[in-house]
Amino acid sequence: MRLILLGAPGAGKGTQAEILSRELGIPTISTGNILRAAIREGTAVGLKAKALIDAGKLVDDETIMGIVSERLAKDDCARGYILDGVPRTIPQAEAMEAMGIEIDAALSIEIADETIVERMSGRRTCKNCSQTFHVVYNPPKQDGVCDFCGGELTIRRDDAPETVKARLETYHRETEPLKAFYQARGKLVCVDNQPSIEETTAVIRSALGI
Ligand code: AMP
Repeated sequence: MRLILLGAPGAGKGTQAEILSRELGIPTISTGNILRAAIREGTAVGLKAKALIDAGKLVDDETIMGIVSERLAKDDCARGYILDGVPRTIPQAEAMEAMGIEIDAALSIEIADETIVERMSGRRTCKNCSQTFHVVYNPPKQDGVCDFCGGELTIRRDDAPETVKARLETYHRETEPLKAFYQARGKLVCVDNQPSIEETTAVIRSALGI
């Protein structure tokens, strides 16, 4: 299964990607997580990306395509992959096609902007492994501590309300047109966000027939 996850920031792409990854035994490639790791490590890519991410803007397509091609070349992608947060623009999708990156489906998780703003305020992210939690909908077993690696849970800087607004604007302008792009290729599958993580996973499984 080679899957692209589309949807606004906070739609639950990362959460669903992790669940599907575990179930299908294929890796999730999150350009956001790779960029945040680059920032932590202080690499050249990280330095370039930091200000853009903090402002809710997109990182340039060339940098992103470099990250994607390097990651997809690794052995663990041979049986399939889930792309979370990439492509984010039509030029990225076109570049992926030109590179011969094949996909079986582009799954869009549909959710209202108001729900996102409310949801992002409760999101907590592990500083160490990037796993996400939600104080109400998906709480960690112990406050402030990651269930998976014991790392410290923090609020992502770009989850601040003003930045969330900027990221939503960026999403509608730059990323939403990808739905028509994949629809034209017969690959688009849309599901509505559900009240719980489990229910959303269930509608995704049924929409993808897995
Ligand atoms: P995410 O974790 O997917 O919400 O990504 C966080 C931030 O990283 C985004 O707001 C962008 O600034 C940047 N980013 C992640 N993926 C991409 C991409 N495919 N293209 C451009 N910027 C990206």
